[in-house]
Amino acid sequence: MANDEYYMKLAIEEAKKAQNIGEVPIGAIIVKDDEVIARSHNLRETAQLPTAHAEHIAIERASNTIGSWRLEGCTLYVTLEPCVMCAGAIVMSRIPKVVYGASDPKGGCGGSLMNLLVESRFNHRAEVVSGVCEQECGDLLRNFFRELRLKKSKTNK
Ligand SMILES: [Zn+2]
Repeated sequence: MANDEYYMKLAIEEAKKAQNIGEVPIGAIIVKDDEVIARSHNLRETAQLPTAHAEHIAIERASNTIGSWRLEGCTLYVTLEPCVMCAGAIVMSRIPKVVYGASDPKGGCGGSLMNLLVESRFNHRAEVVSGVCEQECGDLLRNFFRELRLKKSKTNK
């Protein structure tokens, strides 16, 4: 658990990088054998790509790093519960363990709306740990959207 918190803090650092460039603050880290093999943050606006989610980019980078689409022995840390696409990518990459911070009641597919990561009909299931540094991960998002609403209400006046 202490390890999970340590790596989640690194994911939070990534989320802050997203925030600094005006992206929704979500960050991800992939760890293998106690080594960070990929780090990334949400780049959806910058890239104008619906697939540029933090964990999706991290999965691509990790595969590049180890030269395999199979991310066996890896743990993915992400500040927000994975969406349907990212949960799918986790299943496809065979990542055995996923740790996330805040839950996403409107889009989460790691336990909120459904849990694709433990779906027994798929040929792969992941261990899921939720709520690691939940408050900090959630506060980043809440503060980001609060500021966004403030900016919008100011420009509308
Ligand atoms: Zn996603």
